[in-house]
Parts: sequence; structure tokens; C-alpha cells
Amino acid sequence: MEHIESPVAEFLKSPKIAYFSMEIGILNDMHTYSGGLGVLAGDTIRSAADLKIPLLAVTLLSKKGYFRQAIDPAGNQSEGPADWDPAKFTEPLPEKIYLEIEGRHVAVKAWLFVQKSITGGKVPILFLDTDLPENAQTDREITWHLYGGDERYRLKQEIVLGMGGVRILRKLGFDIRKYHMNEGHASLLTLELLLEHQRDIESVWDEDLVWDVDKVKEMCVFTTHTPVEAGHDRFSYELVKDVLGEIIPLRVLKKLAGQEKLNMTHLALNLTEYVNGVAKKHKEVSMMMFPGYEFSSITNGVHSFTWTHKNLRLLYDKHLPGWANEPELFVRVDRLPEDELWAAHMACKRELIDLVNRKTGSSMNCDTLTIGFARRATAYKRGTLVFRDLERLARIGAGKIQLVFAGKAHPKDTPGKAGIKKIFDCIAGLKGKVEAAYLPDYDMELALTLVSGVDIWLNTPRPPREASGTSGMKAAHNGVPNFSILDGWWIEGHIEGYTGWAIGSVYTEGADVTEEERDAQDAEDLYRKLEEIIIPTYYNNRHLWIRIMQNAIGKNAYYFNTHRMMLRYVTEAYIR
Ligand SMILES: *Cc1c(COP(=O)(O)O)cnc(C)c1O
Repeated sequence: MEHIESPVAEFLKSPKIAYFSMEIGILNDMHTYSGGLGVLAGDTIRSAADLKIPLLAVTLLSKKGYFRQAIDPAGNQSEGPADWDPAKFTEPLPEKIYLEIEGRHVAVKAWLFVQKSITGGKVPILFLDTDLPENAQTDREITWHLYGGDERYRLKQEIVLGMGGVRILRKLGFDIRKYHMNEGHASLLTLELLLEHQRDIESVWDEDLVWDVDKVKEMCVFTTHTPVEAGHDRFSYELVKDVLGEIIPLRVLKKLAGQEKLNMTHLALNLTEYVNGVAKKHKEVSMMMFPGYEFSSITNGVHSFTWTHKNLRLLYDKHLPGWANEPELFVRVDRLPEDELWAAHMACKRELIDLVNRKTGSSMNCDTLTIGFARRATAYKRGTLVFRDLERLARIGAGKIQLVFAGKAHPKDTPGKAGIKKIFDCIAGLKGKVEAAYLPDYDMELALTLVSGVDIWLNTPRPPREASGTSGMKAAHNGVPNFSILDGWWIEGHIEGYTGWAIGSVYTEGADVTEEERDAQDAEDLYRKLEEIIIPTYYNNRHLWIRIMQNAIGKNAYYFNTHRMMLRYVTEAYIR
């Protein structure tokens, strides 16, 4: 009989870095992502494959996806199913491991997807699945819904991701040199590693020293993404005991994960040697939030090829050949002829405007300065800031600007949903003065159409809550300048009037400004720059405008890409 080699065999030959993420945006039709975190994970994997970095990834199957968004004419979001068919995109692996959850044995298998690069690099992704006939129904559902269910459901998912992930890698025969936790969701993997690396009880003078914390620390890398306390997953110890049992003594666990509750971020911080924030400012904010821990920073990026529209790809191929695998070549952006860059941009813009008019019944046109805003609809993103003074916006913008919005609110995020409704009300309020529209069901495909088709990309988060932000980097890759609050990556990418424009000033800790005052100041600055600088430049100085587009590419896309980011992870975090 012919020997059939396991589909993972080729990846077992050399040691790997295992990248764990609750969500991964790898293909638009695999609904295993919800927003920025998952898209970043996908871009990380795409760059790792291009650069032939020996990495693999582990995530949940999320067979029922996140959700599809529909919005009624009044602006009420409703959620529809987003199932996807794993067999269409991935290959089931026969190996199986077991976890103990709520006292039951839960079987876990994995589906394999291989991200292949034209360079020949390959990165395997394992999608963990508990929907197996031998499991109890409630356990079968653990890997169904991305960010669905209650706390208990989330804890079960994080057990499958962290502990199940390590076990399946072991079962498959991988040699893992580093475990990289993309956000705290995966930090239970540290417990599995502690269980694996126990010291001999005879050799230690204190029984707690059985747990070889230093050994685990050496093996782990942790990237935090959340600059607010409330954003970190935490579970009561009653729940943990009930779901996970006491796999290591509670006394020891509390020392590592927090006395009151099991805080996933604390657990990761205490069991990781290399911890980083995702922008320089985010590192500072994290150090304030978690005193006593050492943080590094590696600013996020986006995958250049993925986030460049084909019209721009053709232009770059012609004048900057090799750019996709060497985004540093954007330094030669001045080679792009102005008229060709403008033509490529206008082709993208036509595609967007056609889509907006078709989908929303708007009557937008391609000659009007078009402003885009799309991201998760949640309070801190302040999607309604631009509408703070509708009359003023109408006066400044009538006949001169158009606005396009998109974004999903988490089904349980009531303020987020109210924000969408408010945007709809404002769009209606501007009717006849300023054309504005909201496109439903924001996803990666729509994101690319938006970031390449608008003239400026607006971002107005409440600082310091935008850890990095990445959609603005996508815009820059398409020659679209940013107009943004100075937070996250934009603090590093912004050169006023050169790569784009800032809104407001950099947030300083302890500044005595209320949210209301901050909103008022930011809106004032937004309106002023729009009226006095951005609109006049767009209509009266096209040459300067195109220079700014070139700078977005040459100064922002040049740096804010995942090729640069991954090379930093390799030299600073993976090889130590
Ligand atoms: C890039 C992207 C995001 C992240 O955008 P931010 O501006 O960083 O919040 C979210 N959702 C989708 C679909 C994306 O493509």
C-alpha cells in the first residue's frame, strides 16, 4: 500500500514559531475574523509566508462566523448568520486531542489551511474544531461563534484555543520554539506549558517551584492590543474552577493571573519574557496601566500587496518593480508620474462611487472630495464626531464633500448600535446639502474598495484608546492621505500637511479635560482644517494634493507594513 504522508509532514522538519489568535482574517469568505485584530493576524501570516519566516498559526474554526450585518432605513442593525464551509477551504486532519471542560472529555480536531506565497513560502494555519459527533451538544458549539455567547462560553473557547492548541501541536509532532499570543485570549496556553515543564518535586525546596515559570517565560511572546482595563478578559475563580477545574493549585494560579479574578492579560504578562504594545504611544499607555512590567513596542502594519488595489498594483509594478515583497521600494515613490497616480486613484474612486450609488441610492459623483470612515462601530471610535455640528458641516461642505461610512457593531454593543443609528439620522439631516451614505456589512473586501476609493481617510477615536489602528495604513498604500486624531500609529505617521493632517493634539495623561470638552475641541479642529486647508487644497492645488498622495505612499506605506513589522518581531521577539 502506498504510504500517504500527513499534510503537515513538510512543516515538521524544522522548529516553528506558533502564533495564536482568537481571530484570523485570511480570506474574505472564511468568516473567522471580526475586525482589526483578525485582519492584523491575517496580514502577519501573509508577510510571514512571503518572507519565509518559520511560523504557523492556531485559531478557532468559528464555523458560524461573526455575523452578517443588515441595516434598515432607520439605521437599526440586525444580525444574520455568517456560516462558512470549512471543507471548501481547508483540509481536516485525523489527529485528535482531549480537554477536560466542566468535567467532561471534549475532543478537539483541527482543519488545515496553508497560506502560500508566490515566493514559495508557506504558513500552515490550524483551525480548531470541537463540533465532533462524540462531543456533547454544548461542547460541539464551543467553536461555532466568534465573540458570541456569555463569559462561560468565552472561557471554554479560550481553553480550546490556548490549551487545546498547544496539545494539538504536540500531537501533530511540531517542534515549537516560541509561542506568540496575539492578545490575551490565548494566554491559557501558558498553563499548558507550565503543566508540561514541571520540575521534579524532589529537586525544589518549595512546592510552588515545581511550576517552572522562567522556562515558560522564555518560550512566550505576548502582544497586547487593548489600552483600557475593561477591555481585558477576566473570569471569576468560581467559573474557572467549574469549567477548567484546578489543574494547577489555585494559590499558584492567583499569583500569576490576579488575586480577585483570572485576568488573561496578567497571566500573559507574568509568563512572558517579551511583551509588546502595537505602537509607541500604546507602549507608554500599557506601562501606565500595568506598572512593574517591561513593554517593548512594535508598531503594526498591513500586508502591502493585499491592501493595494489592483489599479495601484499595476502602477507600482510598472515604476517600482518588486515593491510587494520589498515595500522599502516605496522610498522611490517620486518615480510615479503624477498623472498616472491620479488616473489610478480615479479608477478606484469610480468603482467606489458606483458601488455607493448602486447600494444606497445616493447620487454621489467622482469630482467631489470624498471622505471615508469605516471601522468597528463602537463608542470610542466616535463615528459621529464629524456630525457634531450639522449646520456647520453643511455650510462648509455643501457641494464640496461627500461622506461614506461603514462598520459593524457587536450584537451586544448597544451604544455601538445607537451610534450607527445616529449616523443614519445625520445622513438624513444632511440630505440635499451634503451627500452621505452608510454601506452595510463591512468586511475585508469592502474595506479595500473604501480605502482606495475615497480621497481622504478619516479617523476620530477617543485618545488614548486607539492602540494602533490599521485601516489608515491601508489607505496610505493606495495613496489616500489620512485626516486623523493623533493616536496610535498616526502619531508616528503624521507630518502635518505632508502625509496628511492631524485632528486635535496628542493626548497627555492626567490632562484635565472632560470627554465633552475633548469632543468639542476635536470637532472644532476637524471643521477648521477641512474648511481652511483640505477643501481648498483639493480643489485649487491639485499638484500639491498629488504630492501629499505620494507622501502617503512614500512615508506611510513605506513603513507601516507587516513586512517591516515581522522583521522586527523576528529580531526582537523571536530570536533572543
Ligand atoms: C482593517 C480592518 C479593520 C481595522 O480597522 P481600524 O481602523 O484599525 O479599526 C476592521 N475591519 C475590517 C474589515 C478591516 O479590513
